[in-house]
Amino acid sequence: ASSLLRPLATMRNAQKLLAPVLELGCRGYVAPARWAARAAEEVATLDNSHRAPAGVIEVPSRLLMGPGPANAHPRILAAQTLPLLGHMHPPFLKIMDELSEGLRYTFQTKSKYTLMVSGTGHAGMEAAIANLVEPGDKVVVGNAGIWGERVAILSRRYQADVVEIKVPAGQTFSYETLKQTLLEHKPAVLFLCQGESSTGTHQSLAGLGDLCRQTGTLLLVDTVCSLGGVPLFADKWGVDCIYSGSQKCLSGPPGASPFFMSERAMEKLQLRKTPPATYNLDMNLIGDYWGWFGKRSYHHTAPVSTFYAMREALALVAEEGLEAMWARHQELHHRLWDGLRGMGLKPFVEKDEDRLITVNTIKVPEGVDWAALVKNAMDTYSLEIAGGLGPTAGKIWRVGIMGFNAKPQNVDLVLDAFKDGLKRQRKL
Ligand code: PMP
Repeated sequence: ASSLLRPLATMRNAQKLLAPVLELGCRGYVAPARWAARAAEEVATLDNSHRAPAGVIEVPSRLLMGPGPANAHPRILAAQTLPLLGHMHPPFLKIMDELSEGLRYTFQTKSKYTLMVSGTGHAGMEAAIANLVEPGDKVVVGNAGIWGERVAILSRRYQADVVEIKVPAGQTFSYETLKQTLLEHKPAVLFLCQGESSTGTHQSLAGLGDLCRQTGTLLLVDTVCSLGGVPLFADKWGVDCIYSGSQKCLSGPPGASPFFMSERAMEKLQLRKTPPATYNLDMNLIGDYWGWFGKRSYHHTAPVSTFYAMREALALVAEEGLEAMWARHQELHHRLWDGLRGMGLKPFVEKDEDRLITVNTIKVPEGVDWAALVKNAMDTYSLEIAGGLGPTAGKIWRVGIMGFNAKPQNVDLVLDAFKDGLKRQRKL
């Protein structure tokens, strides 16, 4: 374990060495002590009681094997240190074009309408709902855990007529259930979460694109925890809108949400009677910044450094290839479970075909203190393993094997931490 942590220690040393350089800032220049308030403004004595923080930031090094964020690839972190460009400068617009193109590959679509929403997965989620849903529209939300629950809440805030369908935690929706629901309600939008990270399930999308075309429904899918880790074919499967996350299988920092709309979804947006109730996430306006409609208009200042990072993230996807990435994630999922089963641990998700390979959920056995095991992993190995969330709180552990972290040595360290944690509780 200590050899695995060595690169992290090296990073910490580099930070210490750089500290004197980083601290320089503007200190070389001291202006003459003259400054002025506006005429009628009273100059008070400066309150220094909150004058903080001080010194160069220090961050402990951790291996993040929970449901996210995962550790970012060093090449991606390095890209964030490059000099800023203006958000409308041609070299930056070229980077945005590269992002759109890389997303076409990652989503497997030929659609013009791909971009990074400036914000985390939630921003992508809100962009999808706010743009696809008009007040009064019927939205069927597949609630298999907290992400479906949030989409239902969000849809109501945008005045949708929400039909929530539920499965018990650890299960997915069958094609038959979805078919019946679609035929009965003929909703404007069907939402499903491909990788439900609160329960560790993988929702199949097979056949749903065709069904949605029959019922005049747009198919909206959350791929925050699954994009790059499991197969997805946006065009072939007839998906209409997808949002995702940067900090999971794409190995980036949080702050950009990969986003896709089909021609059908764009048509719906163009035919809206009223503009989306959000200015920040209006895809007509954001699309106009990304060149979707032939020109470039300022909408907001893109998070320039985060987009550099995501440019590198998508270059890494293109270089490795999606099939190799999917295979790597699958292989390591099996490596994890071979080890966990060897310790007598059991998956929370009963059916093999429902199990998500990127976020693995493990039943906490009777009499085991799940939190103590999580704490020991952090204290002894600088390793993050998570507990449950929402419907699974206190019942499971969650182990993410995503992106840059999807490597045999990391899985082996997780297994060591489980072994050690169980032994300390005399359960192994
Ligand atoms: N959907 C899923 C499936 C997720 O796992 C997450 C984050 N854990 C989100 C949406 C929300 O993403 P973010 O935290 O980046 O806003």
